[in-house]
Amino acid sequence: MNLVFTGVQGSGKGTQAKIVSEKLGMPHISTGDLLRNSQGKLKKEIDSYISFGKLVPDSLMINVLNERVSGNDYLEGFILDGFPRNLKQAEELDKIVQINKMIEVHISDEEARRRIRGRWNCRKCEAIYNTFTLPKPKIERYCDKCNEPLYQRDDDSNDSFVNKRIEIYHKETEPVLAYYHSIRINGEQGIEKVTKDILKEI
Ligand code: AMP
Repeated sequence: MNLVFTGVQGSGKGTQAKIVSEKLGMPHISTGDLLRNSQGKLKKEIDSYISFGKLVPDSLMINVLNERVSGNDYLEGFILDGFPRNLKQAEELDKIVQINKMIEVHISDEEARRRIRGRWNCRKCEAIYNTFTLPKPKIERYCDKCNEPLYQRDDDSNDSFVNKRIEIYHKETEPVLAYYHSIRINGEQGIEKVTKDILKEI
């Protein structure tokens, strides 16, 4: 089964994609992570979009994805997190593989802003904490596992970039929800309840 997880920034789509991929033993492919971890000469160009809350151009995004995803990943089933983010990307994806279900983790824009403002990340183990919701770090701004100082993503720490990403989500990504007849899950519940609701649907 090939799944797509989507949701406005801060919805918890990445957290849920990770949990469900572990529970079901399916590869989890996050395009945000692929882009953030890219190396070499493309890194500077990619960062110039991500840091300002803009989408990376489709051709570049599709190249990065093709480099990571082999035919075998597609055959065995996967969870795509953060892709496709517009209709053009959905059409490109359809040429390669059939998507069986799209899950939308839904929260209000107001809740998205609140969660993004509270999001802190660990560079070393990539754990994600939230000072307003859960999980909170035991020692403020330090990773529980690595003791490393936590950081905020450039695109999370600036209100105008956060608003820009929410606006792009409504304008460009929402049409994809209709395209795949996505299933809406209430993301404003506890993490475990959201996972339970998703598993019921898939
Ligand atoms: P995410 O981790 O899913 O919130 O993605 C972080 C950022 O990566 C986004 O704001 C975009 O700049 C970029 N990005 C991730 N996925 C895509 C995509 N499918 N198309 C274009 N840009 C993307």
